[in-house]
Amino acid sequence: KFDVIIVGAGHGGAQAAIALRQNKFEGSVAMIGDEPDLPYERPPLSKEYLQGEKPLERLLIRTENFWEERDITMLLGQRVASVDPQAHTVTTEAGETYGYGKLVWATGGSPRRLVCEGHHLTGLHTVRTRADADRMMSELPNVQQAVVIGGGYIGLEAAAVLTKFDKKVVLLEALDRVLARVAGEPLSRFFEEEHRSHGVDVRLGAKVDCILGDSHVTGVRMADGEVIPCEMVIVGIGIIPPVEPLIAAGATGGNGVDVDAKGQTSLPDIYAIGDCARHPNRFADGDTIRLESVQNANDQATVVAKNIAGLDASYDSVPWFWSNQYDIKLQTVGLSIGFDQAVLRGDPATRSFSVVYLKNGHVIALDCVNATKDYVQGRKLVLERAEVAPERLADTDTPLKEMLG
Ligand code: FAD
Repeated sequence: KFDVIIVGAGHGGAQAAIALRQNKFEGSVAMIGDEPDLPYERPPLSKEYLQGEKPLERLLIRTENFWEERDITMLLGQRVASVDPQAHTVTTEAGETYGYGKLVWATGGSPRRLVCEGHHLTGLHTVRTRADADRMMSELPNVQQAVVIGGGYIGLEAAAVLTKFDKKVVLLEALDRVLARVAGEPLSRFFEEEHRSHGVDVRLGAKVDCILGDSHVTGVRMADGEVIPCEMVIVGIGIIPPVEPLIAAGATGGNGVDVDAKGQTSLPDIYAIGDCARHPNRFADGDTIRLESVQNANDQATVVAKNIAGLDASYDSVPWFWSNQYDIKLQTVGLSIGFDQAVLRGDPATRSFSVVYLKNGHVIALDCVNATKDYVQGRKLVLERAEVAPERLADTDTPLKEMLG
């Protein structure tokens, strides 16, 4: 039996263990993870790692020594299949049962898969784990043309890397703009243009009919009958949080598992953090949402670790996120969900600008493209939900920090 078991050895899991020890928690701690690797950073999988610029050792969140020195037991290559909240035990797929005092569920998300014909062919890839990226990289030498399905961050980042390898890339987005779920139109249009200027064939409103091939993919057939030949398909259409064992044990949830501001699920002594935790968020008007970001995983992990260590903490962090594509560094702060006005600050043609999102006249979020100053200064505007006239926000001669109330 362990005093704390963390299920999922990713960003949130690792930070929970780190923060438990930082907060002087002296009980026994184990982390059960289904991947074979020590916790590593996931964002580079569609960026520097895929590009071959950063090996796995440099992705590790901490070295093996670190975990040993802090007496964190790593149970890797094991997947938790069920939870018994009464007995306070978890059981793995291999049938091992471990007792816990407190359980932290940090299982992230499984890539949503295509359901159309041909979805099982080799050459079809999702990008979530180091093993996924390795599989893709090993096939790249045999690829001339790749199709990316999904114009979200991961699809766009993968497309950018593939063009660096001189692959022809067709990017299929079902909606009428890329990043539709997370950003305003000016940002979507900027990224579409940027990808097109690098040779990516960006197609919007694209409806996939099926994937073609005998055993390996040879093409994608569109709903209108057109066949796009390719040797690789990358599917980036979102994630599904793996929370079935908790739901089966009686936890409330649906798209993820529900937690309160302390990270506690509806089951006693069970917490959830990161991509799989549906939580109340002040920056979403108090609505319950799931956030898929390193910031959210780390900050929720810290809150839960403090609560387990006997302190009293609630989650209230300002959301932030980044994405790198070509030489573009996008940094976002706040949540633009529900904005009613998007103000352009700067000229996208200069490739350095920001989009400021307002709701009822108050700043709720910024997307900053190669504009770190705006990002740093805009953070305060978001924190204070500052009321600033759109004309002022658009005036690049005035720094954002001067617009605070
Ligand atoms: P994860 O880090 O995914 O860890 C969950 C772990 O739990 C995984 O190892 C999983 O295999 C394991 N697991 C699942 N079920 C079980 C089970 N039943 N038993 C045992 N283990 C289990 N975020 C940013 O902020 N910026 C970025 O630029 C960015 N880029 C990204 C690029 C890619 C390619 C990907 C995939 C993600 C990116 N993200 C980015 C998102 C970020 O990586 C996630 O939000 C973050 O990893 C969430 O942490 P987590 O602990 O919730 O989940």
